Amino acid sequence: MRCPYCGGLDDRVVDSRAAEGGQAIRRRRECSKCARRFSTREVVEEIPLMVVKRNGSREPFDLAKIVAGIERSCKNRPVPTEDVQRVARQMEARLRNTAAKEVDSRAIGLRVLAALRDLDEVAYLRFASVYKDFQRITDFQKEVGLLRKTSPPKSRRSANRTGSVTSPAAPPRPAGPAAQTGRDS
Ligand SMILES: [Zn+2]
Repeated sequence: MRCPYCGGLDDRVVDSRAAEGGQAIRRRRECSKCARRFSTREVVEEIPLMVVKRNGSREPFDLAKIVAGIERSCKNRPVPTEDVQRVARQMEARLRNTAAKEVDSRAIGLRVLAALRDLDEVAYLRFASVYKDFQRITDFQKEVGLLRKTSPPKSRRSANRTGSVTSPAAPPRPAGPAAQTGRDS
């Protein structure tokens, strides 16, 4: 490391310690030429996640592109921006958690589709139409059929629609004679 005082290139490390909760190593160095001391900071170099596109070319993963894609599909739909951001960030975290340094763009598309299915059906169909390259109306009809088949059970959906986040998963215990039959007999 070049000495910031005299420009000398030879130094010795006099102290090393973990910093920033283990995210960095700080080293105290002493210049062999002028004997003045200075510090350096060592951090892990970010490992770039590359996206392999359909044509085989590669580009760095870009969260903004994912967000833009989801937002296009959610245009004029009642999907909060926070939900779009959250979905995109969760996806990035999962992709970065795998050891792989490359990810297929089609795999990203599938993850976006899965996330949109839970967010908004119209947004899902819009994204699917581009992702699956729909050519005719029957493609949409087929996809809607798939969507219906794989949708969660009705009870959960209606609960989500009303937005009653605090409502308990189980219905309240019925109050009345029916509920007490066990005790009274
Ligand atoms: Zn020096």
